[in-house]
Amino acid sequence: MRQSYTVTITEEPLLTLFNKELRRKTPSVSGSMIVSTFVGLLINQAKNSKTSQGLVGLRNLGNTCFMNSILQCLSNTWELRDYCIQNTYRRDLNNRGRTNTALMEEFAKLLQTMWTSSSNDPISPSEFKTQIQKYAPRFVGYNQQDAQEFLRFLLDGLHNEVNRVLVRSKAIVEDLDHLPDNEKGRRMWKKYLEREDSWIVDHFVGQLKSSLTCSECGYCSTVFDPFWDLSLPISKKGYGEVSLMDCIRLFTKEDVLDGDEKPTCYRCKTRRKCTKKFTIQKFPKILVLHLKRFSEARIRTSKLTTFVNFPLKDLDLQEFSSENSAHAVYNLYAVSNHSGTTMGGHYTAYCKNPQSAEWYNYNDSRVTPMSSNQIRTSDAYVLFYELSCPSSRI
Ligand SMILES: [Zn+2]
Repeated sequence: MRQSYTVTITEEPLLTLFNKELRRKTPSVSGSMIVSTFVGLLINQAKNSKTSQGLVGLRNLGNTCFMNSILQCLSNTWELRDYCIQNTYRRDLNNRGRTNTALMEEFAKLLQTMWTSSSNDPISPSEFKTQIQKYAPRFVGYNQQDAQEFLRFLLDGLHNEVNRVLVRSKAIVEDLDHLPDNEKGRRMWKKYLEREDSWIVDHFVGQLKSSLTCSECGYCSTVFDPFWDLSLPISKKGYGEVSLMDCIRLFTKEDVLDGDEKPTCYRCKTRRKCTKKFTIQKFPKILVLHLKRFSEARIRTSKLTTFVNFPLKDLDLQEFSSENSAHAVYNLYAVSNHSGTTMGGHYTAYCKNPQSAEWYNYNDSRVTPMSSNQIRTSDAYVLFYELSCPSSRI
């Protein structure tokens, strides 16, 4: 069957968010190498000593548990931790016309403190908070915020400061009609990287394929979009628990677009009832799954407290893949939890320490060990999974 392809590339909305202030110069290579070696030494010492590093709480600065919860999940993302504490990020913070790098630097500094401080006393993330507020003014003040939204803003902010693309070329619309699906997916990904290409993208971003099929003529068009996380609806099965797979199946399930939602069919040249289905074209190394517990992130009117049963190991997403051969087995390493109601709630994090592989409960300034059978609760809100790949980790 012939397929139609519509290529749309958005104009650069993110660049406009930046202030045009010139960044300060990064230290010389030799300087950062010395720091890197020094940090490496400290980590090796920590490995050899009985106290595990990274087990440091974060002070609540007034309703900042949403931020602390996400920061702990990211601090236990071992590749991101290493990127920060080994100063690898500095290579990407090159100074050719970069407008601002303060958020990345402050984030890395915070992780370095969390992983190299000699005591386990809680740390105040106030300097980091100052920077995230500059990037995303909605986080100014001390109101309770949504952890998933915060994560999106933070990753976006970090990405922008280490984006390898310094000057984004003008978006061009290209007809990719003639290409087979997988080739089109690859081309769309390449186009994305021409504008958004960073260490953060390398690790956190995947690609979603949506296929639209016309109910009249059977014409199928495909659209490929990058995703930073998947927001999963919580399937309802009367009472009792649902599984994470149920939620992913609901997210990818074939959906009918009718009425006002009717898309224009390329072949019929008119708006037609269509079916739409999602598959995952490219699996990210780190998969963030957001359970849609709240009716709306900004104006929370209700919360679902359904227990979603999720696996700690071997979450196999092969059945949602666009291609049959894709490797898509994930292991859980962190959870951001929300307890309480829409009116008053509290965020905590459960994270697996990348060095000891033991689980800990991070509740603002308190860090306590926990058993892996305590991780699954109806408070689970944002799940962090890592693509399993035995050869990649020594
Ligand atoms: Zn049609």
